[in-house]
Amino acid sequence: MYKIIHEKNEITVQFEKDLVDGDTLSGFLNHINLQSMLKKCTGGDTAARLRIRKQLEGLPTGMALLRDPTLNKGSAFTLEEREMLGLTGLLPPRVHTIEEQMQRVLEVLRKKSSDIERYVSLIALQDRNKILFYRLLLDNIEELMPIVYTPTVGQACLEFGHIFRRPRGIYITARDKGRVAELLGNWPFNDIRIIVVTDGERILGLGDLGADGMGIPKGKLALYSACAGIHPSLSLPVTLDMGTNNTRLLNDPLYTGLQHPRLRGEVYDEMIEEFIFAVQQVFPAALIQFEDFGNRNAFRLLQKYRNLVCCFNDDIQGTAAVTVAGIFSALRITGGHLKEQRFLFLGAGEAGLGTGELMVSALMEEGLTSEEARSCCWFVDSKGLIVKERTDLNEHKALFAHEHPPVLDFHAAVEILQPQAIIGVSGQAGRFTAEILETMARINERPIVFSLSNPTSNSECSAEEAYTWTEGRAVFASGSPFDPVTTHNRTLIPSQGNNVYIFPGVGMGVMASGAMRVTDEMFLVAARIVAGEVLETDLAQGRIFPPLTRIREVSLKVAVAVAEVAYARGLASRPRPDDLQAFIRDLTFEPQYQKYI
Ligand code: NAD
Repeated sequence: MYKIIHEKNEITVQFEKDLVDGDTLSGFLNHINLQSMLKKCTGGDTAARLRIRKQLEGLPTGMALLRDPTLNKGSAFTLEEREMLGLTGLLPPRVHTIEEQMQRVLEVLRKKSSDIERYVSLIALQDRNKILFYRLLLDNIEELMPIVYTPTVGQACLEFGHIFRRPRGIYITARDKGRVAELLGNWPFNDIRIIVVTDGERILGLGDLGADGMGIPKGKLALYSACAGIHPSLSLPVTLDMGTNNTRLLNDPLYTGLQHPRLRGEVYDEMIEEFIFAVQQVFPAALIQFEDFGNRNAFRLLQKYRNLVCCFNDDIQGTAAVTVAGIFSALRITGGHLKEQRFLFLGAGEAGLGTGELMVSALMEEGLTSEEARSCCWFVDSKGLIVKERTDLNEHKALFAHEHPPVLDFHAAVEILQPQAIIGVSGQAGRFTAEILETMARINERPIVFSLSNPTSNSECSAEEAYTWTEGRAVFASGSPFDPVTTHNRTLIPSQGNNVYIFPGVGMGVMASGAMRVTDEMFLVAARIVAGEVLETDLAQGRIFPPLTRIREVSLKVAVAVAEVAYARGLASRPRPDDLQAFIRDLTFEPQYQKYI
């Protein structure tokens, strides 16, 4: 009766009869639901032709469509779509729903024997069919978060060159000096709102992984889309390959980066500067998230650029917000006010000092002076307690140096300072020993124990150790997830102090308001929102963060609060919508297949 011909972006429907009367034509159009796409109808000696463009303009057809991960629906293309888009015969005949497709992927994932294999399989799905990937991740967030992010992403970065399949993101090296903007312009999308950038020097607690650290920006951006609904096409992962000092990688023929030692000094700073300003030129609406930079550069770069461009450092500010949120909810279990607490940190790097600074802001909101607030926060680093008489302290540590005799050992510091909370951010496995945990349990009815170092193998103590050595009384959170623990006739669900409660919502709030800067106040309001989302029933199970199944709801509230700060402080560049929450909800990417026909 009719034949469909595909030529580039144009579809021709060719009828067998010479003349097609009006009724037949409109019946046909209604049948295949093409009325809205009709542009022009031409007749001929042997056929009437419908030329249909509009909706299909620019849409690839056939194999090219199946290979486009943003458009591909795989076996979920309907028969009509297959017919119109040149897919008939290219797919197995049965049409599946997205739910059936998810069932298939989950079945495959669950049969795999290791998490790294699951990671590879999930990334392959992301490269094949983005909607299915995000829907699967969102609907199975508790199961898949540890695969897409810590701890498995750590393993993925360690093996990055060996499991590498398809590139995603932009790589910039020193040999690109002078043409960074041109490289950014090679990215296929031109409206970018979030950039996560790393130089790979401090990947989780795993150290210098150079260009193989690219797994981290990719993973973080997947979480932006899954957890806050930032559309995947609005985000861009970037690796600044500044070399590596990791000899294992330098000697590995499959390492993905340039094989030279890390650049330092002026060359490094010039590359960063060029990158920051190239972003302003090519993607002026983008928020830059610094991720997993080494300690020496992380603070410096944040300080240099935070008041110049829209940026933040997740290891410093995101970690601070999630840790402070954890403390706010832990206090609902232990009782007492924030200003009555003494916090002892093991580790005084990005995570520790960032948290210390945000804690000081929170304490000052409770009426303390800056000095009083700082006196609640104590730090032990690799050289012992941070005290005034030490001469090896950088400016950030010096702000927390107290008048006190030196103490070399962490356990001794716990005995002397009698803290209500110990917070492990040292990247050193097993440093919260049985003796330290027993001491915490002796000093406190409900000791707060945060063992935040990642990945799991670097945790200062496991959930089981924290509960066992405190007779089940510890209020515990970790950086990487731990399974529930049954002890003293109770099953406790350890909380993961995952930055994912914070950064996706912050990013969405910044994007929605067009905030020109990211401020510490935004992180403090985010912390309060996250803590406020923890229900009494969560606390009763030992949880001090909301379950990940509620992450979209939590991120939406964080986004609204962050946008409110931007409007209140005159930092927003867009007019305030009447209903901010509804506006942000409308911006949210829902992983659902779109109908092409
Ligand atoms: P960093 O390198 O900036 O700081 C590490 C700190 O630990 C330094 O102050 C160092 O002196 C100290 N340290 C090293 N060895 C020590 C020892 N034996 N005793 C005492 N202190 C010691 O790293 P960072 O960015 O602060 O991250 C630290 C850890 O926190 C990492 O494992 C990271 O994965 C983890 N982290 C967790 C979260 C989270 O759970 N949400 C977020 C960010 C970072």
